[in-house]
Amino acid sequence: MGTYDGAMSHRVAFVGQKNYEPLSLNRSIRRAIELCGFDLNRVRGAKVLLKPNMLGAYPPSMGVTTHPAFVASVAGIFKDAGAVVSAGDSPNGVYSNEQTWERTGIRAACLEAGISEAAFEASGSVARDGLMIARAALDADYVVNLPKFKTHGLTIMTLAAKNLYGCINGMQKTALHRECKNIPEFADVVARVAGIVKPALTIIDGIVAMAGNGPSAGTLVELGVIAAGTDVHALDAACCRLVGLDPRELDTLAAAQRQGLWDGAEEIDLAGDPLDTLRPKKFSLPVTYTRGMRDWWVSKFIVARIWSGMRAQPRIDPDICRRCLLCIDACPVAAIDQAKTDAAPMIDEDACIQCFCCHEICPYRAIDLRKSALLRFAGWMSRRRSRARSTR
Ligand code: SF4
Ligand code: SF4
Repeated sequence: MGTYDGAMSHRVAFVGQKNYEPLSLNRSIRRAIELCGFDLNRVRGAKVLLKPNMLGAYPPSMGVTTHPAFVASVAGIFKDAGAVVSAGDSPNGVYSNEQTWERTGIRAACLEAGISEAAFEASGSVARDGLMIARAALDADYVVNLPKFKTHGLTIMTLAAKNLYGCINGMQKTALHRECKNIPEFADVVARVAGIVKPALTIIDGIVAMAGNGPSAGTLVELGVIAAGTDVHALDAACCRLVGLDPRELDTLAAAQRQGLWDGAEEIDLAGDPLDTLRPKKFSLPVTYTRGMRDWWVSKFIVARIWSGMRAQPRIDPDICRRCLLCIDACPVAAIDQAKTDAAPMIDEDACIQCFCCHEICPYRAIDLRKSALLRFAGWMSRRRSRARSTR
């Protein structure tokens, strides 16, 4: 893998874009690339891999995956710049690759743009810094990261850094969930993957974003934003601010800071349309998030000791469940099973490690996340603390 020798900077560009109409979309993406300081002249003759979010076999209308028109547009821009372009991702291991390529519309986008599909699983994995990374992601001269702007039950948001977790092939992603005892440990893995893959450029599809209980069962928000930058962490911090989330609460940013990959800069060099003109009136975060909890020593103390009691718990609604059984395959600790054939699966709460993989992959939104009583209490304490601080 080559690395980008252009300026890795704290510059982040925001461009307003209301829809996926090809001509205006192309203009806006080009503007975002230029404003964030990425030099397209560098990619002439180079192998460029586009890494969209292809979580699973979801149609574009569900807003779970990067919109195919977005992928086609970026592909066209890099082809025009003289690059040899491909696109690919590794979906969640329970989904068939073929169905994912088809249903997301990204196969059609590749055909339309005349670029090839990068088959992550078929390329195999390469050991890097203790992690197995898809060879396809390491073989490219430049990786262009194309995340969807979404919330995430486990990591609050899935933006630039988290999108690169797809560079771990198939069920290896699930296995890593089992190995991580808590969110900071998982965030460390995400930051390490981002540090290894090191995309040259990230362009986030926030035209239709997902709020609430993402990454697949949230509510769609017409955010109307394209965000671009060469530093995934600066971009994540800026996107947090756009939706009113303190970047210091994002575990993946804290992990990047621990690893020396992010300096925690308060100042980010913003370019393009002013944030105030793009800020959504309302953008709800997952129920698993409680403002102010992550940097409070009391909650850290509790999390370290009674982790499972401090989390939200997934619940299967048997009336919505369609018995596809994908959640059983997705669970890294075999905490889900069927009592009898044709019954909705049930979750063994004692065995559950609250990784929310089942919630993430359920295609019918039959799995809800509910806060534990202890988490609700801690949230109440945290809000009281914030109010007391603000009146001092
Ligand atoms: S809860 Fe969702 S993933 Fe699990 S069997 Fe039911 S529909 Fe399928
Ligand atoms: S039941 Fe769901 S949240 Fe619990 S460990 Fe299994 S996949 Fe993760």
